[in-house]
Amino acid sequence: MFNIILFGPPGSGKGTQSEKLIAAYGLKHLSTGDLLRSEIARQTPLGLEAKSIMDRGQLVPDEVVVGMISSALEANPQAKGFLFDGFPRTVAQSEALDKLLSLKNTAIGVVLALQVTEEELVARLLNRGLTSGRSDDTNESVIRARIKEYQDKTTVVADYYSQFDKVVNVKGEGTVDEIFSALCSEIDKRMS
Ligand code: ADP
Repeated sequence: MFNIILFGPPGSGKGTQSEKLIAAYGLKHLSTGDLLRSEIARQTPLGLEAKSIMDRGQLVPDEVVVGMISSALEANPQAKGFLFDGFPRTVAQSEALDKLLSLKNTAIGVVLALQVTEEELVARLLNRGLTSGRSDDTNESVIRARIKEYQDKTTVVADYYSQFDKVVNVKGEGTVDEIFSALCSEIDKRMS
């Protein structure tokens, strides 16, 4: 198994690059944002609880996302590997993920961290809000709140994985294909 964390702030291109990476490497895509939006669409109790938090641009509780990831790992016993997108977002989530993977005798192979400036992030998210149907993308103050949550709670996830020498920074500005090839070359170096 080879497991990847695609890391970076909101709007850094994780979703776009994830689609290409799962196709190229045959990985199972696990996006906590997508899993939460599916709970909201199905109007489950979890979705109803998460919606108001997400609409404020804050993080949903660790237990909720860790529970979703744990079920998704169990539901995919045949996967060649997992691509985590938007998870883990706190150190507690990182520690929980490492435990879940070690129970499966596997681990994170690499953390690919996309680097994008804040002004570019806000511009991309406002632009995505025109068509994404995501209410958290249409309001600039919610976008800024998400970036602040990222700086306050999520950047430390990179420090956590740096202890184990797993983090590689990749420039997240340029064409989609340029960024994709930079990501692939880092994966290929570590997979072999
Ligand atoms: P983006 O990275 O563009 O903000 P996501 O789809 O990853 O988009 O996340 C949307 C929202 O879902 C976040 O603002 C947060 O409220 C919630 N969320 C997603 N993943 C997590 C997570 N791992 N921990 C806590 N909250 C999360």
